[in-house]
Amino acid sequence: MPEFTDKLKGKIRVGNGKCPAGHSLMTDKVLFDGQRAIVVKVKNKGHSSLLYLNPFYGKFEYKGEMKFEHGDVIEVFCPECGVSLAIDDTCHLCDIAMFAVQLPDGGQVEACPKIGCHRHSLKIVDVDEQLGRMYVDETKVQM
Ligand SMILES: [Zn+2]
Ligand SMILES: [Zn+2]
Repeated sequence: MPEFTDKLKGKIRVGNGKCPAGHSLMTDKVLFDGQRAIVVKVKNKGHSSLLYLNPFYGKFEYKGEMKFEHGDVIEVFCPECGVSLAIDDTCHLCDIAMFAVQLPDGGQVEACPKIGCHRHSLKIVDVDEQLGRMYVDETKVQM
């Protein structure tokens, strides 16, 4: 599995994220830098709400109605079918289960569900093909 460096942060965009059951998690109701957000359902302290995530890898912006405190650990679900997006891999910093957004062809973007933890990783099965599709050239981003 290749290690991605900080150079790629903010340049790779999840354009087609899905839940494990195959529902699209992309929405055009909320945009980040003109790009469709990833939408998930989150639960925190007994409340649930929709949360919109910046689709660019390595960016930790989110929008939503729910307010979080540093250190909150959220549960993340598909808004369509309610399946949990938690995975077996744990965040090495927090020792809790990460959640993942599935990519086409078997890769996934993983993130730590603890607010304030910026652990994020990218697993790609077919690296050349996927990176070719996901890599956003900077001229496009600035449109
Ligand atoms: Zn689903
Ligand atoms: Zn963490």
